Amino acid sequence: MTLADLPALNVGELRKLLQAREVSPREVLEALQARIAEVDPKIGAYLSLNFDAALALAEHADLNLPLGGVPIALKDIISVEGQPCTCASKILPNHRATYDATVVRKLKAAGAIPFGKTNMDEFAMGSSTENSSAKLTRNPWDLSRVPGGSSGGSAAAVAADAAFAALGTDTGGSVRQPAALSGVVGLKPSYGRVSRFGLVAFASSLDQAGPLTKTVRDAALLLNAIAGADPQDSTSLPEAVPDYTAKLDGELRGRRLGLAKEYMIDGIDAQVRTAIEEAVAHFQSLGAEIVEVSLPHTEYAVATYYMIASAEASANLARFDGVRYGRRAESPKDILDLYGRTREEGFGPEVKRRIILGTYVLSAGYYDAYYQRAQKVRELIRRDFVQAFAKVDALISPTSPEVAFPLGERQADPLRMYLADVFTIAANLAGICGISLPCGFAQTDGGTELPIGLQLLGKPLDEARILQIAHAYEQSSDWHKRRPPLAANVQRPTSNIQRSTQKE
Ligand code: GLN
Repeated sequence: MTLADLPALNVGELRKLLQAREVSPREVLEALQARIAEVDPKIGAYLSLNFDAALALAEHADLNLPLGGVPIALKDIISVEGQPCTCASKILPNHRATYDATVVRKLKAAGAIPFGKTNMDEFAMGSSTENSSAKLTRNPWDLSRVPGGSSGGSAAAVAADAAFAALGTDTGGSVRQPAALSGVVGLKPSYGRVSRFGLVAFASSLDQAGPLTKTVRDAALLLNAIAGADPQDSTSLPEAVPDYTAKLDGELRGRRLGLAKEYMIDGIDAQVRTAIEEAVAHFQSLGAEIVEVSLPHTEYAVATYYMIASAEASANLARFDGVRYGRRAESPKDILDLYGRTREEGFGPEVKRRIILGTYVLSAGYYDAYYQRAQKVRELIRRDFVQAFAKVDALISPTSPEVAFPLGERQADPLRMYLADVFTIAANLAGICGISLPCGFAQTDGGTELPIGLQLLGKPLDEARILQIAHAYEQSSDWHKRRPPLAANVQRPTSNIQRSTQKE
């Protein structure tokens, strides 16, 4: 392979070359920059890039660290000191973060190099990245379709080899769902496993940052770096962080996987259903036992989520008032005019919809009927999982009921858009962990093929187990090796870098 082929590698492969000193961090960054210049005009994954800052970090990269010299893309809701942090909103047009989020500090401490911020739905509200105020992101498998959301820029970048790995955030599915629709791996850690300090808050009791990667092992490598207690986030958990790569054997014998009967709903696309059934049969052939379980409160999850998430969002977004951060309306008459016009001009329609809904469910007279009742249902949903996990090691389901849909198709139909997260949302309400990984492809009428995602859900703090099961499945299948048409097509093995400058 040549230096130009480097972006096709996953993090594990890149680490080997860096550690063997076959390539330098500078060469890696230059190859990645060239790759982004080539594909990002087609997919629109990035909102900002800063290769000067990245190259400065690369000069001092310690290649013996677990992620030494590895560039990592970050969703534009995660603070990186000195870099833009816009949340894809017109209310933060020129905002630059004044400190590193804990996940960024930890990635840097592990040797990783931030270099760019990825597109997203405004303030992480959405399932298609179309709610970005900045630009559209396209699915690398089919440029007429969405990459999923809200971490769609991160997912598209990794799928198109325009990033080795990325971080997103998942409040109701925003790491797992775009991972599924773009054909990469996405991990949502258990609530409290990863610090939220330095993430712009959407719904504080649901938000978690997590990796989007090309392989399950890469997800484990990134989780190793970002997990752990943080004195700056009182909801982060003090439990010790295991080495998530240590138990990635191929063993599935004796594993008990639960299939929730409530998840086999009518709305599932036929090709998605078939792929999941085949994955289940594959797990059985590898020695896993499939157990039917029940999650009886599943049908209330989406409604419960939209009340709680919107309530918390309405409180969290109150800080964007034209005084402290970002945009300020011109020549206001008085303070109310300042607040009103700043927010009217700054927020997009979906964010406004959430603020209105959230303010409503929290208002006197409605609080008991909506917000408080939603909290009670949330507890019932959590207990459903406790009971299911008493019988099984992990739950298995589609990540999303459908494959990537055409750009524009759902924008006028928010309710239909909300249903994109039926299988992911309950995990956030219950605080459990989940991973999505490729498990097949659907054929479209237009002749393109679109990835299908399989979701595994695990108990709180049981990331090691879902990673182990996901890895075993991945290693016995070829889905993760398929690349979208515009991905780099290179020859492995990954040694013997040719530095010749001749053009092919
Ligand atoms: N699609 C869901 C929403 O719009 C989830 C978003 C997320 O996880 N950030 O709220």
